[in-house]
Amino acid sequence: MDMYMPNCTGVEVARIIRQHCEFLSIPIVYLSGETNVALQVDAMRLGGDHFLTKPFNPVFLNTIVKSKIERYRALRRSMYHDSLTGLLNHSSGKNMLEVLLSGIVHEGGFLSVVMLDIDHFKQVNDRYGHPTGDQVIRSLSWLLKQRLRKHDMICRYGGEEFLIGLPHADAEQAFSIMERIRHDFSQIHHPHGDGHFLTTISAGIATYPLAHSGDALIKAADRALYQAKHGGRNRIHLNDD
Ligand code: GH3
Ligand code: MG
Ligand code: MG
Repeated sequence: MDMYMPNCTGVEVARIIRQHCEFLSIPIVYLSGETNVALQVDAMRLGGDHFLTKPFNPVFLNTIVKSKIERYRALRRSMYHDSLTGLLNHSSGKNMLEVLLSGIVHEGGFLSVVMLDIDHFKQVNDRYGHPTGDQVIRSLSWLLKQRLRKHDMICRYGGEEFLIGLPHADAEQAFSIMERIRHDFSQIHHPHGDGHFLTTISAGIATYPLAHSGDALIKAADRALYQAKHGGRNRIHLNDD
């Protein structure tokens, strides 16, 4: 960013950029002939990350820009993704669901929302230990990534709970996709010591246009999940409101 431009200053632009929370982490490096240290400090205080003065060394500029980009990408990864599984985290999953929903509302069609939870997971931790429990969560996330399509949304919603968005899948299609995943997960041999153990998942599904907001769809899918648990676990339940 230059400091002095035809209709505004770099500091003014930086302040506007920083007003938008989605741009908060974008690095701003000033490159200017301004040598007044007080003004440079002001520019940094109001949203800048680095200040280079002209004449500048291109190798130095290149290094700074590269390192800012790398840091920015790592920061975004940790802001939006869950560190155990690499899936979207709770808040970015909810945001992504709203994005998918507004696309579907605009285009027309279905959006199936799935709440998925590992059965009796507390027992897995109690019997085999927390690190083995973590490995089960990782296996499930790997299976979900393998089986779902590129435009589907998978999020680690909480500890052993996952939120999934399946655009253009009606309730029956979502059911059969999740039913296959449920079956395949139940066949995975989770290694422990010299042996292995098995575990299962339950899921609830609610499909737009049953409800018209992301939150309402999540709640409806959660009610179906509750019914799946209540019905004996290791099953998929469609919301029947
Ligand atoms: P249900 O079939 O009703 O879902 O039973 P549950 O035991 O799975 O349900 P509950 O919600 O009571 O227990 C979830 C457990 O998941 C509790 C918590 O210790 C464990 N947990 C949450 N996050 C993690 C995690 O990141 N790693 C591991 N290993 N365990 C976790
Ligand atoms: Mg559970
Ligand atoms: Mg749970």
